Amino acid sequence: MPIKLPSFRPRRDDYPPDLWTKCPSCGEMLFNKQLDKSDRVCPTCDHHFRLSAAARLELLLDPGTFEERDAGLQSVDPLGFVDQKPYPDRVAAAQVATGLRDAAVRGIGAIEGRPVSICVMDFGFMGGSMGAVVGEKVARAAEDAIAARIPLIVVSASGGARMQEGTMALMQLAKTIAVLERRRAARVPYLSLMTDPTTGGVFASYAVLGDVNLAEPRALIGFAGARVSAGTIAQELPPGFQRSEFLFDHGFIDRVVHRRDLRTELVQLLRYLRPADGSSGDGVEGDTRWGFRPMGFLSQLADRVVPEIGPPPGSSGSERSSEERASGEAKRG
Ligand SMILES: [Zn+2]
Repeated sequence: MPIKLPSFRPRRDDYPPDLWTKCPSCGEMLFNKQLDKSDRVCPTCDHHFRLSAAARLELLLDPGTFEERDAGLQSVDPLGFVDQKPYPDRVAAAQVATGLRDAAVRGIGAIEGRPVSICVMDFGFMGGSMGAVVGEKVARAAEDAIAARIPLIVVSASGGARMQEGTMALMQLAKTIAVLERRRAARVPYLSLMTDPTTGGVFASYAVLGDVNLAEPRALIGFAGARVSAGTIAQELPPGFQRSEFLFDHGFIDRVVHRRDLRTELVQLLRYLRPADGSSGDGVEGDTRWGFRPMGFLSQLADRVVPEIGPPPGSSGSERSSEERASGEAKRG
């Protein structure tokens, strides 16, 4: 057994952590003030450090335009979940550490004078995990975008669903996807930005549903960890298969954008993607231009399968759905 000798003088690479940060990619010691000036990108190797929600909003939006909404939303503890410590204690500790109520901040801001509804995640708050509050904020950001007919922007940084909220966290996948589907039918643009890391339930729901999906360089993006993924399909996976660049090469991501160019990129995209005018209404029906829509398909299927327990017999609703069912059967026959 090795004997641990007491050290009598500080090691030479012991820098005060509030002054210096070591780049995990190239090992360079970076002066924190300089790092902040370069938007937390390593000047030597372009490693993108994680950004807090506040820094991200400052980076993307016109100065002074952000108006926070739902700032008071806070997690409850529906399951009475205790691991090493009770869930409410964990939330309280994260709140003290970050100054946030939960892992997402949302509101209305402007980019080059154009109003946008934006929701930004903060990995510093419990790994950016998605519980009921994060899901609700994404959903409400989309609802505001639909109501005001302004573009929606979501910046993801998350390890996935929050295990302390169990099924409640998993339900956020369905909730966010449903409202994003309504947003699509209302023809309001949605830009998704994936930052390091975007994994688990966030990857499996709103993060990849943008009209344009952007990612920061070298960001970890995927559903499960590399070993689990390889084990599931019992195959070797190529190195870096969960990085932005690989996903871009394989058509999963539309663009990999350096942080210094992000704002310009959003400005350009927002010039192209304007919300369609509201005259055609927000209805899900009647717009076939978007082609196949999984959620629309599912709800039509539900209409066909569930009418017996839906509207009372004889009402116009059940007539319509029995017609649909008949036509569905005809197609099948
Ligand atoms: Zn570096």
